[in-house]
Amino acid sequence: MTQRYPLMVIGTVAVDAVETPFGKQNEVFGGSASYFSYAASFFTPVELVAVVGEDFPSEYRKVLLERPIGLDHLEVLPGGKTFRWKGKYESDLNVAHTLETHLNVLLTFKPKLKTTVNPQYLFLANIDPELQEEVLNQIKRPACKLVACDTMNFWIGKKRSDLLKVLKRVDLLVVNDGETRELTQEHNLIKAAKIIQEMGPATVVIKKGEHGVLLFSESQFFALPAYPLEEVFDPTGAGDSFAGGMMGYLAKENRSDFETLKQAVAYGSVIASFTVERFGLERLRKLTNLEIEERLSDFKRICHF
Ligand code: AMP
Repeated sequence: MTQRYPLMVIGTVAVDAVETPFGKQNEVFGGSASYFSYAASFFTPVELVAVVGEDFPSEYRKVLLERPIGLDHLEVLPGGKTFRWKGKYESDLNVAHTLETHLNVLLTFKPKLKTTVNPQYLFLANIDPELQEEVLNQIKRPACKLVACDTMNFWIGKKRSDLLKVLKRVDLLVVNDGETRELTQEHNLIKAAKIIQEMGPATVVIKKGEHGVLLFSESQFFALPAYPLEEVFDPTGAGDSFAGGMMGYLAKENRSDFETLKQAVAYGSVIASFTVERFGLERLRKLTNLEIEERLSDFKRICHF
């Protein structure tokens, strides 16, 4: 029997080291797929496709199991070491620096979906575009209704041609402003979104950190500020949580018309606003659906005019 997952993600499951103006933490549970699936799980069950090494702490696995996150496709590579990332944020928290990236198990990972797997919504979170493509090759369309993708400067610089191949085949790209400019060589984000649409994805979502988000479809445009917070503690995972909230909502509603996309972007912004209030996944682990709904109402009140 075919397993119909409402939402599947491939991305990194990582051990991070993070330095912000407010403190330093050396072993933080992170990774694009971890943040994404945790955030999305407030809306729908998520199947996580990723690889870790034998050193992957069992407490981290337990964190994922707190939520409806399927781990049947979380591979443990014998003798391997988990992906590690070290980053630092300046006092302007929009400015992030990658200090170290250790790909480790990603270098030999060959994602293999069970033949009977059929996700309805697929998110290719930030990871090597070759691995994104391998998963894309194993899913059936149009049974999979929407494929969305994320990336970052690391892959835009190192694997541009592989990334362009992936972009031709996805419906939606979510990227931040800096990556948009790097990918398109265009400074103006409206022009840059059009260039990305010519590369493949009909819908483009550009995240601008504390300055909010822009949503472009073929003929419509929407802009939303970020939820204004008095204190931002650690921006790590904001982008992945945004994507998780957005895709989780789309998968739950099982539609992706422009009005639903607008709501999804608002939910993504709300979830990301919670993520940055604490280190790592700390805040999301305490989050409730009631808090999400309350903040969304407040957000609507702030933005309405
Ligand atoms: P963001 O949502 O953009 O803040 O993403 C933060 C997460 O991305 C961290 O938890 C890292 O483990 C992960 N990450 C950092 N660099 C990479 C990379 N090159 N590929 C995939 N994931 C990464």
